Amino acid sequence: MLERLATDILILGSGGAGLFAALHAHQANPDLAIAVASKGLLGKCGCTRMVQGGYNVALHRGDSIERHFMDTIEGGKWLPNQKMAWTLVSKAVERVQELENEIGCFFDRNADGTLHGKAFAGQTFDRTVHKGDLTGIEIINRLMEQVWARPIQRLEEHRAVALIPAHDGQALAGVLLIDMRTGSFRFICAKAVLVATGGGPTMYRYHTPSGDKSMDGLAMALRLGLPLRDMEMVQFHPTGLLAGPDTRMTGTVLEEGLRGAGGHLLNGRGERFMQARDPRAERATRDFVSRCIYEEMRAGRTSPHGGVYIKMAHLGSDHVVRQFKGMVERCADCGFDLAAGLVEVVPTAHYLMGGMICEVDTSTELAGLFVAGEDAGGAHGANRLGGNGVANSTVFGGIAGETMAHWIARNPGHRAPDEAVLRFEVARAQHPFARPHGDLNRLRERLLDIMWDDVGVIRHAAGLGRGNAAIDVLEQELLATGLADGERAFNLTWHDWLNLRSLIEVSQAIVAAAQGRENSRGAHYREDFPDAGDLASSTFTVVRQHGAVLDVAAAPVEFSIVRPGESLLQNAAQ
Ligand SMILES: Cc1cc2nc3c(=O)[nH]c(=O)nc-3n(C[C@H](O)[C@H](O)[C@H](O)COP(=O)(O)OP(=O)(O)OC[C@H]3O[C@@H](n4cnc5c(N)ncnc54)[C@H](O)[C@@H]3O)c2cc1C
Repeated sequence: MLERLATDILILGSGGAGLFAALHAHQANPDLAIAVASKGLLGKCGCTRMVQGGYNVALHRGDSIERHFMDTIEGGKWLPNQKMAWTLVSKAVERVQELENEIGCFFDRNADGTLHGKAFAGQTFDRTVHKGDLTGIEIINRLMEQVWARPIQRLEEHRAVALIPAHDGQALAGVLLIDMRTGSFRFICAKAVLVATGGGPTMYRYHTPSGDKSMDGLAMALRLGLPLRDMEMVQFHPTGLLAGPDTRMTGTVLEEGLRGAGGHLLNGRGERFMQARDPRAERATRDFVSRCIYEEMRAGRTSPHGGVYIKMAHLGSDHVVRQFKGMVERCADCGFDLAAGLVEVVPTAHYLMGGMICEVDTSTELAGLFVAGEDAGGAHGANRLGGNGVANSTVFGGIAGETMAHWIARNPGHRAPDEAVLRFEVARAQHPFARPHGDLNRLRERLLDIMWDDVGVIRHAAGLGRGNAAIDVLEQELLATGLADGERAFNLTWHDWLNLRSLIEVSQAIVAAAQGRENSRGAHYREDFPDAGDLASSTFTVVRQHGAVLDVAAAPVEFSIVRPGESLLQNAAQ
């Protein structure tokens, strides 16, 4: 059964990007019909809700947007799209004021009433504003209330499965979704569609993002032949909680502020190992700290579960309890005393810097299709600074809302879908129902291990080749694996199957890009090509799917604002 509906704007995802887009589109034109479709419940799914540390913004005396920009570019190892990075840092100021003054958020303050900025690794200024260590709940709850208060249609527990082009192939016509509650298909014809499904590298053994994220947006874009950039750039957060294989808490993140506040990392022998490797010690960037931890693990200097330790006790246990209440409770749930003892940690896949290629106004090369948030590539280059993720989602989500409203004013009609593609995609999504049932979890576990072992923190040609071959085998096994239950309504195993298919497809793109980049930048470290390469001739990878083949190309980075060796800080407020 295929139900057909129509709206003006369809937003896929209800994280910071999706909800900001809905609010700004409604503000730009209150007459537009806007629908937000989301795999989970509004305000309860995705990673914006999980933001712990905070939001980077250059609001404080002594800081400047130029300084925030330089931190972003240098942290991103000169690969960011500079126009996007500039938009991110400059609009973040406006967005934080909007969050407090219009959306209703309230962030922690200093005694003089100014916003408190906490220290985050890899930054030259303490600019991360926050609400304790549970900032995302404050942001997403208030956004959710604002969306509820407006005539914005909510399609909760609706999974997007395919972007459907118009019959002439020149633009997007709409999106095919599954209403997960009934299992029925819905085609929603829309004048403008925003992909804001939040990326989320959940294909690694240790990972932080929410379970509803499986790279669906990028898998759909690949299938449509759209280009993805920087796909090799998977960020590992150095301090994922490590509490053994039997708890989903393993892999969840212990926030950056712990290292920022002066936390120490110790190997299994109780030795601090970061000081000898970087003058910033534990406050070095995430990529570097993750690599150092991984090296300790490879050398066998590990904690009982195979990772290392974080220690906060030397900062005073009362202080730690006060400053990191949520983290202390999370560790206690797993039997660790963060305030006074040692907690086992491991690098954990946290964020995908790569994503769909778009303009600063969030438009893509396909008319009618827009992208924002973690699904969009470019703003962070080779490494995302902690605190720039939620800034990215909210800044570009808002821009997307305005852009789509204005775009519709110039392109007012709906477009008829390509019916052949629509039929093909309905059949494709039902693929596992016609197959003998098998052990899906075993396949998923294998993917987690392949990606962690061969496409993880430290890479080399042999491992990437091995990983590639293993993923191809896994894909064939998945395609031969069906479901035990033919019921469609709330068939979560069906959705696990679809999740795994998206994860496999995007994993293939990650491997292809990692094979294509024969140097080491930021999150991508090749043991066989350890040099960063010439910064002035930096390129970023572009992966595009042609039929069953993935093409990888290198495109030059445009130094539109600052060139390697230069800085904006010479003339700006330092
Ligand atoms: C534990 C954790 C802590 C973090 N802490 C910080 C921090 O302190 N500071 C910071 O800047 N960043 C942080 N981040 C990163 C930040 O959360 C993300 O970068 C950002 O929130 C992503 O926003 P988004 O709107 O793109 O996606 P999300 O907020 O993840 O939303 C994605 C949405 O898409 C939906 N979706 C997914 N697939 C589909 C589909 N097929 N169909 C329909 N809907 C779909 C999901 O259900 C969800 O609603 C953290 C991330 C994690 C995981």
